[in-house]
Amino acid sequence: MSGQTEPPASPAVPSPGLEQIPAVFHDDIESVLIGADDIHRRLDELAAQVDVDYADRELLLVGVLKGAIFVMADVARRLTIPASMDFMAVSSYGSSTTSSGVVRILKDLDTEIEGRDVLIIEDIVDSGLTLDYLMKNLRSRKPASVEVLSLLTKPTRREIELPIRYVGFEVPDVFVVGFGLDFSESYRGLRSIVTLKPEVYAG
Ligand code: 5GP
Repeated sequence: MSGQTEPPASPAVPSPGLEQIPAVFHDDIESVLIGADDIHRRLDELAAQVDVDYADRELLLVGVLKGAIFVMADVARRLTIPASMDFMAVSSYGSSTTSSGVVRILKDLDTEIEGRDVLIIEDIVDSGLTLDYLMKNLRSRKPASVEVLSLLTKPTRREIELPIRYVGFEVPDVFVVGFGLDFSESYRGLRSIVTLKPEVYAG
C-alpha cells in the first residue's frame, strides 16, 4: 500500500446558465443557448421599439398558442402604449419537429381586425410555413397592418422569406425548448432557451 489517498472528487462543473434552471431539469439539458437575463434585456429593447412604432395607433397583439404565451405576457406588460390582446391556436400538419405549411385553425380570434394594426407574437419561426399561412389568413380580413414579433428565428431553415419586423434572437438549426417552447408539452416553463440531450428524445 502506498499510503496515499485519492484526492476528493471535484464537484462536477455545471454548464453555464444552469443555475437559473430548476435542478430537476439539469440532467435533461445539453446546453443553455440563451439565458433568462439576456431574454429579458432583449424583450425590453423590442417592446421599446414597438412603443415607438405604434405610438398613436390602435395595436392588437395576436399571440399564437401555446408557445407564445410568455413572449406575449412579457411584451404586453412592457408596453407603455395601450394594446389589446387576442390569441389564435393553429396546428400544423407534419411530423413533431417539421412543419408542412398546411395549417388548421384550432382557435380563431375573438375580435374583428378590419382596420386595426395587428402584431403577431410568435415564439419561433422555423421554416416560416405556419407564419406565412397565418399572415395570409389575417391579411384577408383587411387589417390596417400585420407585422410579426418573434422571440426566435432559425434563418437557415427558412423555406419562405417572411418580413419579421421584430426578432429577439437568431438560433442555429437545433431543436430548442423553454420560454414557452415545449417538447411533448414539457419544458415550456423554463426561463431560458435550452437544447436537450439526445436521450431525452429517445424517451
Ligand atoms: P414553421 O412553420 O416555422 O416551420 O414552424 C413553426 C412552429 O414549429 C413553431 O411555432 C413551433 O411550434 C415549432 N418549432 C419549430 N422549431 C422549433 C424548436 O426548435 N423547438 C420547438 N419546441 N418547437 C419548434
